[in-house]
Amino acid sequence: MFAELPLAPPPGFRKAIPDKVKLEVVIKQHSLCATCGEKLGKLEDTQFDHVPAVQMRCWDPVAKDTVPPSNDEECIFAKHVGCHAEKTFGSKASKRGADVTEIARTKRIAKETEAFRRRILAKNEPDVTVELGNKRPKKKWPSRPFDRRGKNGKPRSGCEEGSSEADG
Ligand SMILES: [Zn+2]
Repeated sequence: MFAELPLAPPPGFRKAIPDKVKLEVVIKQHSLCATCGEKLGKLEDTQFDHVPAVQMRCWDPVAKDTVPPSNDEECIFAKHVGCHAEKTFGSKASKRGADVTEIARTKRIAKETEAFRRRILAKNEPDVTVELGNKRPKKKWPSRPFDRRGKNGKPRSGCEEGSSEADG
């Protein structure tokens, strides 16, 4: 069933990012914003973005964490507060690509995919019979000898008179 994402993290799931992880991320990015590429300023002006968004990841019920783990530094990007807000909620011009939009879209697509699958399965009647392998080999007509005609051009018949051909 695709109707819901069964292994999505619990709604609102979020773990605080340890300072060590934040530091690793900032160093990895050479203190540059992952969105605009400008230098990151103060820590208060910096936010840490999960990519993919935590709510869009699969959920590992045993580890009680997402896959990849929510604090995997490889999946966290440091950004200006403003740049992050634009990614999370979409710019005023377009909400397309924003996490909140994408999460809703992912669930909608899952539902549409399921509906589509049902239509395909219902439609799977053998209404089209493909005729293959039914090709008859070209029949070679038995070669028929030409009618032997008499010299006068008339078909030879048994009662032909004055035949020049020797019989027997
Ligand atoms: Zn930025």
